[in-house]
Amino acid sequence: MSNMEQIVDNIETINNFEQVDIPKVFEIYNDYVIDRDKDKLKARISDIEINRQPDNCTDCRKCMEKCPQSIDIPNMLSTILALVK
Ligand code: SF4
Repeated sequence: MSNMEQIVDNIETINNFEQVDIPKVFEIYNDYVIDRDKDKLKARISDIEINRQPDNCTDCRKCMEKCPQSIDIPNMLSTILALVK
């Protein structure tokens, strides 16, 4: 299991945040890390329900309290957003 796959697996446990579908976004990003297909990344992110897309992140950092790997999730979301803009 790669580091990113491990992150996706761990993040599945913290999907109680309504603003962003964190596991889905990380799953999509994980696939991008493997295939580097930016058009596919953009299409899949835009397919996420509009009120759960990564640009809804308010940087409240509540998800980080639950993350077993202490991943800087809002920072990762910013990185992903920069890729899809
Ligand atoms: S920082 Fe807050 S708004 Fe952003 S993904 Fe985490 S819980 Fe959701």
